[in-house]
Amino acid sequence: MEKLEKFDFNDKTILVVEDTETSIRFFDAALKKTNANTLFAEDGDEAIKLFDQNKVDLVLLDLNLFTTSGFDVLKHIRSKDSTTPVIVQTAYILSGEEQLSREMGANEFMSKPIKLNSLLESLNKFLR
Ligand SMILES: [Mg+2]
Repeated sequence: MEKLEKFDFNDKTILVVEDTETSIRFFDAALKKTNANTLFAEDGDEAIKLFDQNKVDLVLLDLNLFTTSGFDVLKHIRSKDSTTPVIVQTAYILSGEEQLSREMGANEFMSKPIKLNSLLESLNKFLR
């Protein structure tokens, strides 16, 4: 496996909230390169449970989830904790979604498809 020494997050835990199989595979492969500890939630309720039960250093949050929406997850996270970086990522850019995400406390907004390098640079910005 390619070594990415610049992006070594072996002491960090990243919660990935994502319900699409191809995206889950992308994040899994990308984050394995960084040695980060990863938690995966495929719906909002699971995401909230995992966030509450673990010390999470960063959240990668899909907005379009089958049950509880990404906005509800973001609202929950910010009601508990104002500092954990949250990167919202979505495939469907609806009018106002980015602004609403930022108003609700998201640190960054990425549209899919996400390039590996921009993901890693983003993680680096918030985790180091
Ligand atoms: Mg989705």
